Amino acid sequence: MAHVISEDCIACGACVGECPVEAISEGDIYVIDASLCTDCAACTEVCPTDAISQA
Ligand code: SF4
Ligand code: SF4
Repeated sequence: MAHVISEDCIACGACVGECPVEAISEGDIYVIDASLCTDCAACTEVCPTDAISQA
């Protein structure tokens, strides 16, 4: 399992610094590397558009 970022992402960048395993990459829509994500959910708490959810 991993968390995923939906097209609701506005590329604010808030989630990147919250991830303890550096699984989140920048882009027009940010992307979580499923092979790194530990499902800690820290990123979900800072997302202003609720774009991050568990896959
Ligand atoms: Fe990183 Fe945790 Fe978010 Fe996965 S759930 S991308 S490990 S902050
Ligand atoms: Fe996108 Fe949410 Fe991350 Fe901001 S915090 S970059 S809106 S996923």
